Amino acid sequence: MKKQRPTIPIAEWKLATHLEATREIQNQKGVPAYGCDCEWCFNWKHCLKVLLPEELQGQLTRVGVELDHPTDLYKYESDENGSSIRVVYHAVGKILEGPNQWKSTDMGEMLMYSTIREQPYLSLVVFPQSQSHDEAPVLKNTSAGELVRIDLRLAIPNEVLKSNVPSLA
Ligand SMILES: [Zn+2]
Repeated sequence: MKKQRPTIPIAEWKLATHLEATREIQNQKGVPAYGCDCEWCFNWKHCLKVLLPEELQGQLTRVGVELDHPTDLYKYESDENGSSIRVVYHAVGKILEGPNQWKSTDMGEMLMYSTIREQPYLSLVVFPQSQSHDEAPVLKNTSAGELVRIDLRLAIPNEVLKSNVPSLA
């Protein structure tokens, strides 16, 4: 059988993707967002098509990521205009190129998110899961490549919630 490892861009990064292994780790039992029925997982399912640019949706889908099933998702901030959430997906493969993900500061190594859009704010960083202490799916087929973490931070404006989440209409 032919091994499929197409090179697929995610924003400014390029990923040699193991499609089959990526599909196998989607919606894995045990990851923080698995089967989660919290308010923000619910909101995300209803708003992601509006908040993620079509190009990025297409890239993530081509990599084999299921947009409805993040590894982890939580709200970390809100104000009168809306809330900010972190959404994490995983793929399997190898990062071939892209912006540097880490910066040394007085506080230690800092993760550098790349801004995709200013309004509403959307940023992302793609880096090896081995450089993170946060939770990830289990990759059984380690010959397929390494776990790659696709880590997004974005704003959900209140008006986007109101016009897309059925229970808030
Ligand atoms: Zn949740």
